[in-house]
Amino acid sequence: MAEKNNSASLSGGKKILVLAIFAILSFLIVFGLNKVIRKTKVTPPTPPQEVVEVSSEEIIPVNVSLSDYDVTVGVGITKTIEAIGGKSFAWSSSNEKVATVSADGSVQGVKPGSCDLSVENEFGRTAQCHVTVKKTVYLTIDDCPMGYTGEILNILKKYDVKATFFVMNTYNNRMLKKIQEDGHCIGLHTYTHTFKKCYRSQYSYFADLEKLSDIVESYTGERPNIIRFPGGTGNHVGGKLNMRRMVNGVEDLGYRAFDWTASSGDATRPRPTAEKAAANVLGSCTQDSEIILTHDKPCSPGALEIFLPALLKRGYVFETLDHHPEQSHMSKTWYERTVSKNEIPCEALTADKEFIDLEVGKSATLKVTMTPENSTDYVRFVSDDPTIAKVTLEGIITGKKPGVTQIKAIASSGQEAVCSVTVADKLESNTEVEVSSGGDNQ
Ligand SMILES: [Zn+2]
Repeated sequence: MAEKNNSASLSGGKKILVLAIFAILSFLIVFGLNKVIRKTKVTPPTPPQEVVEVSSEEIIPVNVSLSDYDVTVGVGITKTIEAIGGKSFAWSSSNEKVATVSADGSVQGVKPGSCDLSVENEFGRTAQCHVTVKKTVYLTIDDCPMGYTGEILNILKKYDVKATFFVMNTYNNRMLKKIQEDGHCIGLHTYTHTFKKCYRSQYSYFADLEKLSDIVESYTGERPNIIRFPGGTGNHVGGKLNMRRMVNGVEDLGYRAFDWTASSGDATRPRPTAEKAAANVLGSCTQDSEIILTHDKPCSPGALEIFLPALLKRGYVFETLDHHPEQSHMSKTWYERTVSKNEIPCEALTADKEFIDLEVGKSATLKVTMTPENSTDYVRFVSDDPTIAKVTLEGIITGKKPGVTQIKAIASSGQEAVCSVTVADKLESNTEVEVSSGGDNQ
């Protein structure tokens, strides 16, 4: 019994021990599991973001929509339609003789009419845009701002028409700001409009242009890059000046020069009536794209009141010259006078120097020879970097800051001669520099 008791008490102790171990293990298991469960709840596993994006794109094709579904555009004018939905778009026009469309959705009017543009994205989803192409007219007002500019601006506002104002330096310069605020385009005409002064030499012409640009900038904060030569490029008053070289010269400086294709004749003497000036415009607007010349003259407001509604009725859209598709546009007279049938093209052009070393502020002349010598070509000079060395129309090079650049002489037939120019603060004393003020190769 004693043994039994003994064994019973022993087994009782074991029981307690087993129970204790069991309790500890249970506690650990439950506590541990709970921790694992809690951890799982707090941070649920997420698939990588990129995978989600790629798979959703593959599965769901995106429809394509457009910024505009019905567009009116003038002949020669470009408008951009934005496609939304997808990453790559293929555009096409139902009639490229009416309007063309490029890969980025730029629509250009070719001739009056209408057609449809289609766009397809990478999922094969498509959208269409209807295009109406109208004739384009660029209305230009020269010799302003003068006494009628305010009245002209009111009439343009009434017909919701934008124009290009070729301005001068006048007593009424404060109107420059008003022209800009009304959304019109400002072009440079001339500071003085005195032909004898501004056409005395190429330098006086460019000095006149710069002076006017300063005036316009002081009122509008902008330097225009659209210009009209006083009297146009076909003028007889430019006299000895070679207008082809002048046009090349202004283009090299980043300007765009525009003559006109239709005229109101409002600056001729005796002054026409408003009715006559309007009839002149309506009679000469026959093409799909016209540039109209008018002035700030007494008959101009009355003429505008007649021909603006008439041209709108004829289906013209009014645009400003900064939207013209050409870099520059010259008159017929200019082409007749400068592109003669008796041209002798330049076959080769050689410069008298391949290298020139110059001090800052000093000048040297690059002389060129054309082959054959009696070539009717014109040569102009361009600097690769005018901040290092600038060059005049005659080939006079002036050092501006230390560095190396190239001066190119270009004949109108396209032949080139190149000279490398090194500009330094101070040259070694044995280096000779030819300084000249002449050098006209014509
Ligand atoms: Zn003028």
